[in-house]
Amino acid sequence: MSRKAASTEVCVIGGGPAGSVFARRMALLGHDVVLLERYRHPRPRIGEALAAGIWPLLDAIGAAADVASCRQVQIWDSSVRWAGATAADVHRPGPPSVIVDRGEFDRVLLEQAIDAGVTVIAETSARRPRRRRDGWSVGGATNDASTTINARFVADASGRAKVLGGSVARATPTLCLHALWRGRRAWPARALTEAIVDGWLWGAPLPDGGFRSMLFIDADLLRRRGIHRPELADFFRKLHSSSRLFRTLPRDAEFAELEACDATRFSDAVPIGEAFVKLGEASLALDPLSSMGVQKAIQSAVAGAAAAHTILSGGDSKAAVEFFRADQDASHREHESWIAGYSGQPSPGPRDSFWRRRRSARRPSQRPGGATVPLGRLGLSPAVRILPTPCIVGDRVEMRPAVYHPNLRRPVAYLGGVELAPLLTNPWPASLSATKAAALATWLVSNEILVPR
Ligand SMILES: Cc1cc2nc3c(=O)[nH]c(=O)nc-3n(C[C@H](O)[C@H](O)[C@H](O)COP(=O)(O)OP(=O)(O)OC[C@H]3O[C@@H](n4cnc5c(N)ncnc54)[C@H](O)[C@@H]3O)c2cc1C
Repeated sequence: MSRKAASTEVCVIGGGPAGSVFARRMALLGHDVVLLERYRHPRPRIGEALAAGIWPLLDAIGAAADVASCRQVQIWDSSVRWAGATAADVHRPGPPSVIVDRGEFDRVLLEQAIDAGVTVIAETSARRPRRRRDGWSVGGATNDASTTINARFVADASGRAKVLGGSVARATPTLCLHALWRGRRAWPARALTEAIVDGWLWGAPLPDGGFRSMLFIDADLLRRRGIHRPELADFFRKLHSSSRLFRTLPRDAEFAELEACDATRFSDAVPIGEAFVKLGEASLALDPLSSMGVQKAIQSAVAGAAAAHTILSGGDSKAAVEFFRADQDASHREHESWIAGYSGQPSPGPRDSFWRRRRSARRPSQRPGGATVPLGRLGLSPAVRILPTPCIVGDRVEMRPAVYHPNLRRPVAYLGGVELAPLLTNPWPASLSATKAAALATWLVSNEILVPR
């Protein structure tokens, strides 16, 4: 077996969306980056549904055009059924969500990183990094060679493998059984979501002409029911044929590659330190039904790169650490609020295990509709606080005054490129265009930052 060693400034573990986007941004910011990836891309990967909101993000990181050239199915409509209710057909008036081939999608992002100067060592499985006085030693193994990367900074982007470790707060354990239904058949041209007695079913057509379906259940359901590996396919098929939406799949359709994976959502308590950052699912694993995992993984890579760049370029490390920690915390809280609303919809039976374990008293707060009040009669809400807060300024994290209010999920320092706090404490500058001023005023009133005096 041959042994190789190399030194770099930043070692990224994992070439999924989070690792590739982070690595590319760090390379573009002038850092020396090595990325270790267990497989050679393209490799198969589930998690193919991307909500429409991902496009502005892909555009901002310079990946939209390359991703748009990947094979994909546009999803304009979905059918959603809460058990006991009739199916509701949802038509999205805005841009469609898309189903991509994740192998292709992830390859495109990794190639962008390589083009930006990242050294990718593929088919190399990283072991848990060891801390040294001046950084980290990351061992990696392929079939016939071992590699050691010495790095000042480590980014764990290994997804649920969480190579760097760390303690996590886990939600109710959830198992996903997923299968690929083969062949160019008359699959529904829409996404299907159905709440059934034992959990959720989700399905959508794939770009290669097949159909993906997923079943989300309690992680211990199979054990409780005494279902073993040989009976799994039957169980999976039975739940499809007893569901209102999925029984419409072509009768003689066959699925291949029935697989199981963990789908429990969790968040890491310490997603960043002064010599490491955890990105994507290594930091925060969302409920797959949200179709937001990839988007959040990329967002964490962008935020993580700003934090890491600040630390490595001698900026305010404390602010950088606090910024990323607060960013992940806010993402986690937003997601929990979404989950509370989604899982709180009419469900098959509140006493059924899956639903009983997930039923949450918390519902997202409904914002009251704002009445129109002339600006002159408005004043600052007593609930507003303005505090120095770390935020991204250019490529780095710096402290800026930000506005806090119970209606805001995150503190806001800039809105549409305008620093917000000075607008609440000073007369508005004449340089602010009327359109921008009107938009800012509307936002301030609708969020009850400005309230009637
Ligand atoms: C069942 C299920 C369905 C989902 N469906 C969706 C969906 O429809 N839409 C959506 O947006 N999100 C979905 N998600 C979530 C989404 O897949 C993840 O949020 C996203 O892939 C996270 O990206 P990442 O880069 O953090 O991790 P990953 O995509 O998991 O990438 C991690 C990479 O690290 C590599 N790696 C792991 N260990 C090592 C190691 N030791 N050494 C080197 N490399 C390593 C892996 O090979 C992989 O390439 C789903 C998740 C689950 C569990």
